[in-house]
Amino acid sequence: MTSNPSPAASTYDVVLIGGGIMSATLGAMLRQLEPGLSIALFGRLDDVALESSNGWNNAGTGHSALCELNYTPLRPDGTVDISKAVNVNEAFQVSRQFWSYLVESGQIASPRDFLNPIPHMSFVWGPENVDFLRRRHAALQEHPLFAGMSLSTDEGQLRQWMPLVMQDRAPGQKLAATWHPAGTDVNFGALTHRLIDLLQGKPGFDLHLAHEVEDLKPAGGNGWDVSVRAVHGGGERRVRAKFVFIGAGGGALHLLQKSGIPEARGIGGFPVSGQFLRCTNPEVVGQHHAKVYGKASVGAPPMSVPHLDTRVIDGQRGLLFGPYAGFSTKFLKQGSWLDLPRSIRMDNIGAMLAVARDNMPLTKYLIQQVMQSSEDRLKALRDFVPTARKEDWELITAGQRVQVIKKDAKRGGVLQFGTEVVTGADGSIAGLLGASPGASTAAPIMLTVLERCFGDRLPQWESRLREMIPSYGVKLGQDAALCAQVRERTRTALQLDG
Ligand SMILES: Cc1cc2nc3c(=O)[nH]c(=O)nc-3n(C[C@H](O)[C@H](O)[C@H](O)COP(=O)(O)OP(=O)(O)OC[C@H]3O[C@@H](n4cnc5c(N)ncnc54)[C@H](O)[C@@H]3O)c2cc1C
Repeated sequence: MTSNPSPAASTYDVVLIGGGIMSATLGAMLRQLEPGLSIALFGRLDDVALESSNGWNNAGTGHSALCELNYTPLRPDGTVDISKAVNVNEAFQVSRQFWSYLVESGQIASPRDFLNPIPHMSFVWGPENVDFLRRRHAALQEHPLFAGMSLSTDEGQLRQWMPLVMQDRAPGQKLAATWHPAGTDVNFGALTHRLIDLLQGKPGFDLHLAHEVEDLKPAGGNGWDVSVRAVHGGGERRVRAKFVFIGAGGGALHLLQKSGIPEARGIGGFPVSGQFLRCTNPEVVGQHHAKVYGKASVGAPPMSVPHLDTRVIDGQRGLLFGPYAGFSTKFLKQGSWLDLPRSIRMDNIGAMLAVARDNMPLTKYLIQQVMQSSEDRLKALRDFVPTARKEDWELITAGQRVQVIKKDAKRGGVLQFGTEVVTGADGSIAGLLGASPGASTAAPIMLTVLERCFGDRLPQWESRLREMIPSYGVKLGQDAALCAQVRERTRTALQLDG
């Protein structure tokens, strides 16, 4: 795997499909591990990071379970299960380490270009929720990954943490919040650009924008033949790749289906679109400095928890509130209304129908969300910002998520809200489905791709991997000393607060 491609090359060691954070992260990792690889990236739009990875198309939360209540469910016995929160935080620590390595080695000039310290808060009201938050805080506080989390029910303290949320709030409500200084806001679009710049700065990388991958077929044991169409004219071409990564976001399911690999059979997709309210009025923006996550409504999918976020995009601060879920049959924001019908196959229709039958509360929730008026949206916002004025907030359309539907022996089909790496048996192809916890976990997800598809090279790569990710192979939650070391090193390198 040491060929040197020219712009017109037709054979590559690696073809990355899609110009989002996932392809960019995998490309950057492979470049560190084996600089001689020839890599091509094909993206259907005119630039990278124009779909879900774009700064304003997602909430930019560095998901580490410091504030997201859905990662800490209440058990029937009244205790809080923190196992998922630990996994999510461990995964984010891997991303932090990879980014720190890129900054420390001078490959990314400034972490501030894409990452900002913004405290993460959970905020609840009502006696039952306050009690839950206390239990959650007590359970997390003891864990080294969450050390430093504060809880308060005191109005004065809450006002100090989130003045905009507390301003003109109705008296007599029982309120509680937790606050953690290690929270982050990530501009995944900016990060994608930095990673692509890094790849372009070295030989052996070809970026083909406005090139849509239309098909891929096995090349008789020699990798894959990838058919690509130039979107603005120029016809079709075919390239041969020893390894293909389908990082096409919502477009990944169609391409996995076209590949014909048995591992993709039976999988379906359920698109959930999202909208946010955005405020850029400096007077309002200046009164809030946190990502404040609340509790989800009944029937809401886990990623639809309402939150009020400070965002930092291209040096400008703004506020984001939402998401308001919606339904569209498109699998990409710039996709086709036919995406959903085109994804239905004989092998997945049973699972899709079973999911439709079993997820009535979700269907009801989505219908309610779609029917919302601007007044309804403002009402939901006022739960968080009682003084919100309509004229300060504009409605923006976020990226499209495609949730994974899989066959299930008992129920016929299940809807999943996580991320799924699908790999071919011979390791020559991998694709990524789903979007949660999403971009925050791009680095650990790509480690999974490396382990599954480049297993024979791992022994050779191991010392480099440890240089990039010192906790590689270790569960940080089980090693308090390494955890403290990693948190401190990445805090310094990335100029964070915790
Ligand atoms: C509303 C919303 C909020 C979110 N909030 C967060 C958050 O707070 N924190 C977090 O970590 N994650 C969040 N996520 C998830 C996160 O945005 C995604 O997990 C991540 O951006 C996915 O990256 P990707 O590279 O897989 O896909 P994308 O960024 O969608 O990129 C896919 C790329 O593939 C291209 N493509 C598609 N089909 C083809 C084809 N046939 N040929 C060539 N190119 C193709 C597209 O044009 C695009 O460039 C959120 C997502 C949404 C929608």
